[in-house]
Amino acid sequence: MDPLSYSKFPFLRDAAEHVKDQGVTLEDLLVHQAYRGARARGKARVIDALEHGVVQLRPMATEGDRLEEVLSYPMARMYVSGVNERFLTKRYALAEGVTMYERLEREDLDVVEEVAYQLDVAASRDGESLRMHFSDYLKYTSRMRSKEWKLVNTEVKSGHVSLSQLKFARVLQQALQDRLESELPLPVDETILRALEGDIRELKDRTVLMRERYKAEDFGKVSVDNFPPCMKHFIGMAQAGENLPHSARFALVSFMHHIGLSAEEILNLFSVSPDFDASKTKYQIDHITGETSGTEYTPPECTTMKSYGICFEPDSLCENPKAKVKHPLSYYRLKNRPMRRPTGAPSSRSSGPAAPQ
Ligand code: SF4
Repeated sequence: MDPLSYSKFPFLRDAAEHVKDQGVTLEDLLVHQAYRGARARGKARVIDALEHGVVQLRPMATEGDRLEEVLSYPMARMYVSGVNERFLTKRYALAEGVTMYERLEREDLDVVEEVAYQLDVAASRDGESLRMHFSDYLKYTSRMRSKEWKLVNTEVKSGHVSLSQLKFARVLQQALQDRLESELPLPVDETILRALEGDIRELKDRTVLMRERYKAEDFGKVSVDNFPPCMKHFIGMAQAGENLPHSARFALVSFMHHIGLSAEEILNLFSVSPDFDASKTKYQIDHITGETSGTEYTPPECTTMKSYGICFEPDSLCENPKAKVKHPLSYYRLKNRPMRRPTGAPSSRSSGPAAPQ
């Protein structure tokens, strides 16, 4: 691969070797004037990921631009590690994955194959497609919700599946995302923290603002603080760009609908998901909320949520025998009216929709 490829795919092993060959030390990168541009670009990489969900392209006309771009990657990793916030780590991993996917769409198949090799994703050429073992395929696609990714909808020949360049690039996106999420945050020592102190503080503030903005935009009418722990957990997953299992998605959409959020507000919540498809998600929301199905579904009761394995982090109110929380909506009502109903929750089945607060 050439230096231009390293700058487009700076997470590759060869790109790290290229940096070593240039003789750039960690100390140089952190403090030397010559690398001020690389530090700025690394910070921009993180801001792009946080605020736009993708790392913006920039011109890489000169050798200096290209080296700066490669160096911006280890810088971005140090910034993300210095901030050490799960929300940012997940946004960053997602954005690097999406950026790589978008670049691979326009590359030759040889480049896609090389990127796979350097990401330790075993694949081989099959004409104009790439083939991989079905167990690897399952490893990377098990969290993709769309039916087209189900193994039953994919042809398996001699234990292998063949994928178009586009689909294979999507698999690589997941592989990179998983790798970054498992690697970050890195341990960062005092020298790094001191050298990047001001930028890390700014990135922390931006992360808090961004998280708040999501909350404010999506749930302005209602108090998220009063949501049951299971729903807070699902929202955290959705806002971090994680795919929710079908049962959790159903529970969350029906819950949000019953507390008074519009279909559009619910749709916004899922818009950062890696496989977000606005029309498909809108269709599902309209079905669950009764717009198209004629049935206004309610979230499952707590016992059902438990049996699905999606009763996450039940708190003291969930477990208080006097409160008798049997339903996520009962929890929400209790939290919103603590003075009026201090010890009992209404029956979940007969309660109907909760009033918006
Ligand atoms: S007990 Fe019910 S309300 Fe509480 S976290 Fe579990 S499912 Fe949610």
